[in-house]
Amino acid sequence: MRQFGLEILATDKLARSGILTTPHGDVETPFFMPVGTRGMVRLTPPWVVAEAGFRVLLSNTYHLMLRPGADVVEKVGGLHRFAGWEGAMLTDSGGFQVMSLDAKFEESGVTFKSVYDGSFHKLTPELAIQVQEALGADIAMVLDVCTMLPNDKEKLARALDLTIDWARRAKDAKLRADQALFGIVQGGTEIDLRIASAEATVGIGFDGYAIGGLAVGEDRDTTVGIVELVTKNLPEQSPRYLMGVGDPYTIVESVARGVDMFDCVSPTRLARHGTALAMEGKVHVRRRENLYLDSPIEQDCPCPTCQRLPRSLISHLLRVDPWSAGSALAIHNLWFMSRLMSRIRASIASESLDDLRAEMKSIWRNA
Ligand SMILES: [Zn+2]
Repeated sequence: MRQFGLEILATDKLARSGILTTPHGDVETPFFMPVGTRGMVRLTPPWVVAEAGFRVLLSNTYHLMLRPGADVVEKVGGLHRFAGWEGAMLTDSGGFQVMSLDAKFEESGVTFKSVYDGSFHKLTPELAIQVQEALGADIAMVLDVCTMLPNDKEKLARALDLTIDWARRAKDAKLRADQALFGIVQGGTEIDLRIASAEATVGIGFDGYAIGGLAVGEDRDTTVGIVELVTKNLPEQSPRYLMGVGDPYTIVESVARGVDMFDCVSPTRLARHGTALAMEGKVHVRRRENLYLDSPIEQDCPCPTCQRLPRSLISHLLRVDPWSAGSALAIHNLWFMSRLMSRIRASIASESLDDLRAEMKSIWRNA
């Protein structure tokens, strides 16, 4: 039996839907991965995430290697056991987390300051693989150089050269056969750099390809334009993963261009700020009118929050007990993302993705 691979079962123009086989189960594509930064999705235990319909959980190498340490996770039986997650898992490489700090990039690796205690650490492409192999997720990511946008082309080109060199070293350092490794296409918003990055990364050869360095300051249509350019330069049969994108408009438009996987902290981050995601658009639950409503966050939503709680309670809790309100909203928002991905897969199967695109564009393009 195959340990890892994508089988495409339906297409609608460039969009595709199918099954991703992993050592921890089959996953219907396209799919969204909730982010359990430190081993758990904020405010939502893993059984709640599983009940919402998610089959792949993402966790952050950067955070886990600093606290509690990859050796601790390995000692208790690996990331699946540590996180209480029976499905598939993906770990990022830490490249994105070090970007926002005062990181120093050299040919050998990147030196950064820990957010926990200010101590200095060095991450190399080889170490990022060793740490991820110790954690033991089903999918690991190469260490890349992520750059903020906008940025000057020379800087982007340098970051890209380093990313390609590091991708090669990451592949050479890989030992575990039961873990897939994805390369990451970088290059900012520069068309020639993106094409060069895709060609070089595909040339090295990975189990899947991620599009990184987007949704970091550019507008959504720019993101979608780069996604279109990159997917045209990726192999048909390999899974494609757009990193860090969670808004419904960009997700649907990227699926329409052949992307299979997404992740973002947005469902739970928005929840903590009192924002609910609904098919008709965002709901700002803290608004006073909600305090007097016995209706759920979203009519016809099958989530446990909407089945039990009136807007009134959540609006009240947002004022006096924001953690409890955030937990109730996080559950709803995760169900929303899961329902959105189900609708996307069904639309591809019935070749009606354009209808869903039009709906999402009118509601979410500027939301
Ligand atoms: Zn709901």
